[in-house]
Amino acid sequence: MTTEEYRQWAHRLVDWTADYYQHLGELPVKSQVKPGDILQQLPSSPPEAPEAMEAIWEDFQSVILPGITHWQHPGFMAYFPASASFPSLLAEMLTASLAAQCMIWDTSPAAAELEELAMNWFRDLLGLPPSWEGVIQSTASEATLCALLTARERATNFHANRHGLQGQPVFRVYASEQIHSSIEKGIKIAGLGSENFVRIGTDEQFALQPEFLEAAIQADLQAGFVPLCIIAGLGTTGSTAVDPLSEIAAIASRHGIWLHVDAAYAGSALLLEEYRPLIEGIELADSFVVNPHKWLLTHFDCSSYFVKDPAALRRTFEILPEYLKTAHDKEVNNYRDWGIPLGRRFRALKLWFVFRAYGRQGLQQMLRSHMSWARNLERKIGEHPDFKLLAPVTFNLLCFRYQPASVPPERWNDLNQAMLSWIQQQGRYYLSHTMLRGKYAIRLVAGNAQQQESDVQGAWNEVLQAAEACLPLYCFA
Ligand code: PLP
Repeated sequence: MTTEEYRQWAHRLVDWTADYYQHLGELPVKSQVKPGDILQQLPSSPPEAPEAMEAIWEDFQSVILPGITHWQHPGFMAYFPASASFPSLLAEMLTASLAAQCMIWDTSPAAAELEELAMNWFRDLLGLPPSWEGVIQSTASEATLCALLTARERATNFHANRHGLQGQPVFRVYASEQIHSSIEKGIKIAGLGSENFVRIGTDEQFALQPEFLEAAIQADLQAGFVPLCIIAGLGTTGSTAVDPLSEIAAIASRHGIWLHVDAAYAGSALLLEEYRPLIEGIELADSFVVNPHKWLLTHFDCSSYFVKDPAALRRTFEILPEYLKTAHDKEVNNYRDWGIPLGRRFRALKLWFVFRAYGRQGLQQMLRSHMSWARNLERKIGEHPDFKLLAPVTFNLLCFRYQPASVPPERWNDLNQAMLSWIQQQGRYYLSHTMLRGKYAIRLVAGNAQQQESDVQGAWNEVLQAAEACLPLYCFA
């Protein structure tokens, strides 16, 4: 492709993306294809001869696009959002075009220094301790793995890195039974063994019970295990439950246990002063992860990992072959030593564009709107005689179910599952589900970047229609 052809295509695709966002709401939010549909339409071997861009583009539109679920669609309220914004997408064009490999300061000084600056800004926006430092990781799963590995190295005085885990005591990791699955995955990868993951019981709000945590630690100490790490959830995936950080932090500090906070989704709410009490005690924690790629308008991937002791993080990961040595190693941040991969994309650019294009006030305004839409819907659900909220609405996630008296309670789970399928088949809204203490809960997240409150209202009307459509199938005979 010549530079001139590239220019023409780039203009054409930018126009297409602008139209895409303008008309996104008209597409079915969830892809309707069946397994294998996409593969079936594509040749099983790559082309021998070059193909025209026009043909590739044609296939993108006719084959690929129908297999895409539109996460930026105003009807997307499933899982947690993966919000994009135009400033973020514009930065991505530059990141992709520069195609720089930002593994060390020398290979792109601006990328390293902008990452340092963006992480410092973000730390201050969130109200984390001013001495902490941050790094951009691809995902919260990766950040949590870094926390577990650093905790492991601190506990073994960096012995495990050199000699492996042979001869080490059995380490234990603690988190609520509601914590995200990435924690168990990290424990497995870190060589700690998933059997050493101790799941702590939760209260009626699905938050970890500190007295159960203390009891589990005491029992482990008596059994000869070594408590290594506690992971506190700030906004769990199921119901955005918030573990009581200050009490957990006191326990961690008393026993000298690493404390990591998983705030992957809800951490962004800390931009609002009124949510700051949720991190009381944070100065006693060791690490904290929040994903701007979920709620903060910075498209995937961009996860921010903050640590109290950057030297321990670097010592866990650093490795310095001759070919990576530079004259500036002692003066700069070489982020290849702050995590797992060597190669790094210039991800700080999109976060910096977002911070500047929205400012603190713009981001706060967006968060407050989402919270208020959720509160309004919470009220409506609360007022409906046959619907029940199954968890507190702390941020903008609503977990609820339909439980009409005309259906036997043992069929409520099936009824709600059927309603969710019905909603997804209509293609206008995409909600998801979870199980909360054996109850099937419909999950609705009020707020992505393209949404208005009318979309949330529309989704609620769709839920009511789903209830009407599915009720006859489950009523008492
Ligand atoms: N923690 C929580 C609370 C999450 O909700 C998620 C994903 O939704 C994760 C961790 C994992 O995030 P990631 O996909 O960035 O690894």
